[in-house]
Amino acid sequence: MLVTNEQRIKRDIEILKKFTATPGAGVTRLSLSDEDRKAREYLIAEMKEIGLLVKIESPGNIRARLRGKEPEKPFVMVGSHIDSVVKGGAFDGVAGVIAALEAFRTMQENNIETRHSLELVIFMEEEGSRFGRALMGSSFLCGKFGIDDLDKFRDSNGITLKEANVALGLDVDRPIKRLQPDEVKAMLELHVEQSVVLDNQGIPLGIIEGIAGVRWLEVTLRGVADHAGATPMSFRQDALRGAATVIAAIPSIINSSGSPHTVSTVGKLECNPNVTNVIPGEVKFTIDIRDIDKEGIEKVTSKVKEFVKKVAKDNGLNHEISIKGDNAPVYLSKKVLNVIEEEAQKADFQYLKMISGAAHDSMVLSELTDVGMIFVPSINGRSHCPEEKTNYRDIKLGADLLLYSLLRLAERIV
Ligand SMILES: [Zn+2]
Repeated sequence: MLVTNEQRIKRDIEILKKFTATPGAGVTRLSLSDEDRKAREYLIAEMKEIGLLVKIESPGNIRARLRGKEPEKPFVMVGSHIDSVVKGGAFDGVAGVIAALEAFRTMQENNIETRHSLELVIFMEEEGSRFGRALMGSSFLCGKFGIDDLDKFRDSNGITLKEANVALGLDVDRPIKRLQPDEVKAMLELHVEQSVVLDNQGIPLGIIEGIAGVRWLEVTLRGVADHAGATPMSFRQDALRGAATVIAAIPSIINSSGSPHTVSTVGKLECNPNVTNVIPGEVKFTIDIRDIDKEGIEKVTSKVKEFVKKVAKDNGLNHEISIKGDNAPVYLSKKVLNVIEEEAQKADFQYLKMISGAAHDSMVLSELTDVGMIFVPSINGRSHCPEEKTNYRDIKLGADLLLYSLLRLAERIV
């Protein structure tokens, strides 16, 4: 049976781990930095070694083609990213790139040919850690940005994306060719889960049905800032007391909404004047609501609105709620999901069908083509930190499943 090589996967991931700006404190590899350049050089050499045709496009996406027998047919794309957050881990993005590379190597070693061409893609800046825009490479590839947008993005030192592209030797004058729906047949991405579901259940593989939508609400409560000693309890219009009541009620709001997958977080709060001996006059806080089901997000939003209104009334406060961000849930392709699931069953792999709580480049591609995603467990769910870890044997299993799915989608000949 065709299998990928765990030792090579381990070697590649451990080599890439060394390209960090913070040695000893996790992986810091911002897009188009020196560390990123070294990682790119290593990977491009590995890709050329197995005969891939490598192309680099603005704003820095690497696209490496393995020619099929019928190259005029739409190609099958597979990949992820190698940029990181500051002091992040060695597996986020990298696991998917190396699994894809290893799948290609295994095909080449076994002289396997496919009808459709295959393309390994490494998206530039998935994390948004340098130029402040997450999913940047895939957004450029799909035509959400063009060549004229290159100088609109700047890093914290004032260097524009255009300058960084020039430094990388890219042509910044020619328009960026947008990926057309008829050029590509499907996109696959393997990624570490970045949560606890697979690890808790001891299941090595996740097959992703969809990516949760996310809505950000901002709630403002206004009361009266007053003397903390001289104002009797019953006369207070305390904005923070109102906010605390709302925040504490969120778990029961979620429960009563009847949407089992909705999750919600209050992660940011500003209190004014934020002084020990003054009753808070104004509090602003955010509520992050996520669900794969748009209905779930809507239900929780309306329950939150209702409850905020009641709390404001009870405490003599004014209130305002605004939507600060809204991304609809994305369902991945049923067709590709079926292919991955059938291949997992054939190989007798244990898997779980699941939802991704985090966004990925593949989500952007799902507007143009059929997308499938495979998750491998994150130990203790840790991610975006130096402790981030996935067992190499799980990545190898994921790479095998990726390989089998690619061979189905690209139509293996021999
Ligand atoms: Zn990632």
